Amino acid sequence: MARYTGPVCRLCRRERTKLFLKGERCYSMKCPVSDQVTDRASRNYPPGEHGRDRMRQGSEYLTQLREKQKARRIYGVLEKQFRNLYKEASRREGITGENLLIMLELRLDNVAYRAGWGASRSQARQFVRHGHVTVNGKRVTIPSFRVRKGDVVALKPASRENFHVRRNRDTLDHELPSWLEAAEDGFQVTVLNQPIREQINEPVQEALIVELYSK
Ligand code: SF4
Repeated sequence: MARYTGPVCRLCRRERTKLFLKGERCYSMKCPVSDQVTDRASRNYPPGEHGRDRMRQGSEYLTQLREKQKARRIYGVLEKQFRNLYKEASRREGITGENLLIMLELRLDNVAYRAGWGASRSQARQFVRHGHVTVNGKRVTIPSFRVRKGDVVALKPASRENFHVRRNRDTLDHELPSWLEAAEDGFQVTVLNQPIREQINEPVQEALIVELYSK
């Protein structure tokens, strides 16, 4: 299954915002786009030899493109899968952009991240791929698996002592969104409802993505 395996801080620098792709480092002074680092250490400009040249204001198309790329990168979804999600979102009732974000939030790897088990979505995705996560008592190893209302997502008992899970829970202050309910000391979450837009706190302007794909 394809996924991006290159340096992830480049992606944040390209979008010129923190996408929180690397776990603990994202909350530290080592983050190259952190507001806290000194001007000298900051690399808050697009990557590449001509990165600084790309800081000028772009066209309307570029703004839309960057917003789409940002959403894709936050959730770790490649272009084809993202476009297919968009098509499905546009066929559903309601606002297409919101439908798209809700479908992204309902991915199993995202739920494992929101539950605070993974420091980043990519780590949560690895937990899913390696069979540490169950849905309604059954092991599910597909990160894009979409959970539904009432589903119970849990870490397997043997995985609860995993060093990384323990450390993430001890060091990172992940707040559980209100559409999930924790049980078993946070090792199990129940999907109370589909999230609504106000419960998704990612800095994405979904209307721009819809404008881009509607061309
Ligand atoms: Fe790297 Fe995380 Fe900072 Fe992004 S937010 S630049 S992934 S350290």
